[in-house]
Amino acid sequence: MIKKNYLLAPGPTPVPFDILLEGARETIHHRTPQFVSILEETLNELKYLFQTENKVYTLLSSGTGALEAAITNLLNPGDKAIIVEAGKFGERWREIAERFNINVVSIKLEWGEAVTPEQIKEAIEKHPDAKAVFTTYSETSTGTVIDLEGIAKVTRNTDVVLVTDAVSALLAEPLKMDEWGIDVVVSGSQKGVMLPPGLAFIALNDKAWKLVEKSNNSSYYFNLKAYAKKYPDNPWTPGVNLIYMLRKAIKIIKEEGIENVWERHRILADATRAAVNAMGLELFSKRPGNVATAVKVPEGIDGNKLTKIMRDKYGVTIAGGQEHLKGKIFRISTLGYLSIFDTIVGISALEFTLNELGYKVEFGTGIKAAQEVLFKEVNK
Ligand SMILES: *Cc1c(COP(=O)(O)O)cnc(C)c1O
Repeated sequence: MIKKNYLLAPGPTPVPFDILLEGARETIHHRTPQFVSILEETLNELKYLFQTENKVYTLLSSGTGALEAAITNLLNPGDKAIIVEAGKFGERWREIAERFNINVVSIKLEWGEAVTPEQIKEAIEKHPDAKAVFTTYSETSTGTVIDLEGIAKVTRNTDVVLVTDAVSALLAEPLKMDEWGIDVVVSGSQKGVMLPPGLAFIALNDKAWKLVEKSNNSSYYFNLKAYAKKYPDNPWTPGVNLIYMLRKAIKIIKEEGIENVWERHRILADATRAAVNAMGLELFSKRPGNVATAVKVPEGIDGNKLTKIMRDKYGVTIAGGQEHLKGKIFRISTLGYLSIFDTIVGISALEFTLNELGYKVEFGTGIKAAQEVLFKEVNK
C-alpha cells in the first residue's frame, strides 16, 4: 500500500511547498546590498510574529542556541535567576544556566502542571536579588501552556526580566510581547513558523538590554552586542537560503493574519482534545495548550509500539513521551502547517492503531467528535 507522510510532531513541522521552493533560489553573497536589503526587510517583518517593535535577532542554530544566548547575554556567573521547571524544556533552562554558573533558584513542579502568576510573585518576593525569571510558554514535553500574560503582570513593574521560551508557542498561542510586557522572547524556525530547522530567534526590550549591557557575554558566537552592532546585517554568515524562506513564511502568515493563525491552532487542538476524550482517553496536562495534545497511554498498551505503528505502518509521525514519560504518553501535534484534515488523518490513524494494540474503540468515535468541533468552527 502506498504510504503518505504526515508530520504531526511538535517540531520539525511540515513546510509548505511555496516556502521550500523559495529555499531553492540561488545563494547570493551575504555582504551584498542585495542580500542585506532582503535581510532588513525580513527582520522588520519578523517583528509582527512577536507583536513587538523591538529588534528580533536571528541566529543560525536550533532553538536551543537562542536559549543559551538568553542566559549568556543577560547574566553573569553568580547572578541569581528563577527558573521554572515543569518539563523537559524547563529543565533545559536550568541545565544551560548551571553550565554558565548562574545561581539557580528552581520552581520545580510536577510535569504537566502550569506555573501560576502567584508562584512567580512568591519566588520574586523571596529572592529580591534575582535578575531574571525563565519560563517556558508552551512546555512541549507535556502539552502545557502557562498564563504568560498573567505572569508578565507580575514582573512588568519590577526590575526582574521575564524571559520566555516560545520556541513551540510562537504562532500557536497568542503572544503580544509589547502589550503584555514580556522582556525576552526566544523562538525557532521548525515549529509554528513552518520552516526547516536551522534558525533561532531572540527579541529583547530595553529593560532586558540593560542587563545585556552589564553582562560580560560569555559566549563568542551568540554575543548579542555583536549582532546589535551589525543589525540588520549579521556578524557571521547568515543562513542565506533560510532567510529567503523566512521572508516567504512571514508573507504567508501575514496573509492569514496572526489572530487567525492563533485561532487555527486553538481549533485543531480543541478538535484533537474532543476526539481523545470521546475515545475514552485521558489528557496528560493540567492546562493543555494548542501546540500538542499530550494523552496518557491507556493501561496495558505499549506506548512505544503505538507511536512506532502510527509512523511506520500508517505514515503518521506523532511524538512519544520524553524522559520518565517515555511509553506513558503520546503527543499529537497541531503545530504549524496543518489543516483540519491533517488532524482528521491523525485521529483516524490513532483509532486504527489503538484497535490493533487491543484498545477497542469503535471506528469513527474520535473522528466524529473532531468533525463536530471542526464543522462548527469552520461555519461560525
Ligand atoms: C523545540 C523546542 C525547543 C528547541 O529545541 P531545538 O531542538 O534546539 O530546536 C526549545 N523549547 C521548546 C519548548 C521546544 O518545543
